[in-house]
Amino acid sequence: MTGRLVVLGLGPGPAGMLTPDAAAALAEATDLVGYIAYLDRVAVRGDQVRHASDNRVELDRARAALRLAQQGRHVAVVSGGDPGVFAMASAVFEAIEAGPASWRALDVTVLPGITAMLAAAARLGAPLGHDFCAMSLSDNLKPWPVVLRRLAAAASAGFVIALYNARSRARPDQLGVALMALRDILPPTTPVAFATAIGRPDERLDIATLAAADPDLADMRTLVLIGSPETRLIERPGARPWLYTPRGIAA
Ligand code: SAH
Repeated sequence: MTGRLVVLGLGPGPAGMLTPDAAAALAEATDLVGYIAYLDRVAVRGDQVRHASDNRVELDRARAALRLAQQGRHVAVVSGGDPGVFAMASAVFEAIEAGPASWRALDVTVLPGITAMLAAAARLGAPLGHDFCAMSLSDNLKPWPVVLRRLAAAASAGFVIALYNARSRARPDQLGVALMALRDILPPTTPVAFATAIGRPDERLDIATLAAADPDLADMRTLVLIGSPETRLIERPGARPWLYTPRGIAA
């Protein structure tokens, strides 16, 4: 058997947001590799081997997956959302780059998934209709001053900003610091959306102004969207307002 490694994303949660290609790759795999919480979302068959690991061991997990592929297994490496967005695909390539030359000959495929930013934006309306960027607020893999510098640059440049890893138990205070920094740059009325556990039974959407945005509305399953000066709300009677960014700005 010739080995194969597929890095795929499960989407934000619901089965309908898993692509048919990713579902087919899961069905064809002999071995499923991933963070426990993501593998728990996959119906693993009796003839498939599950290799669940803890969070934060991405590189070890990637190397283990590459070794399995080299042994001839059909390996699916599973991420939430899209595997290329703050997830396993880069860890696999970091491992290949630093690993034995033979790993470069392996059959490696990356299959896209619906990332949290897109799922959250669709629920809210169309906040990404003009220029936007995505950032991880975590300082696990970059220094905190770099996070603040990029955030300020993106806000000053007029981008809508999608913040991944906005808050965790280990980093309870950084989102508050980030919001304070943004208040020096953006109008107080700038909309801020907290999209939590999108696609799950406990999904929650909160919309606030930048002036009133409460970091306690975020946890480790929250995508925070910071509007641009053009981002606005369309109020609706008895329903959550739509959040959108017009397609263009005046010259
Ligand atoms: N690869 C994933 C992102 C991994 S980083 C993707 O493409 O979506 C983990 C962060 O993603 C979380 O801290 C949160 O900010 C965001 N996230 C993941 N799933 C989410 C969901 N269902 N709803 C809202 N945000 C989510």
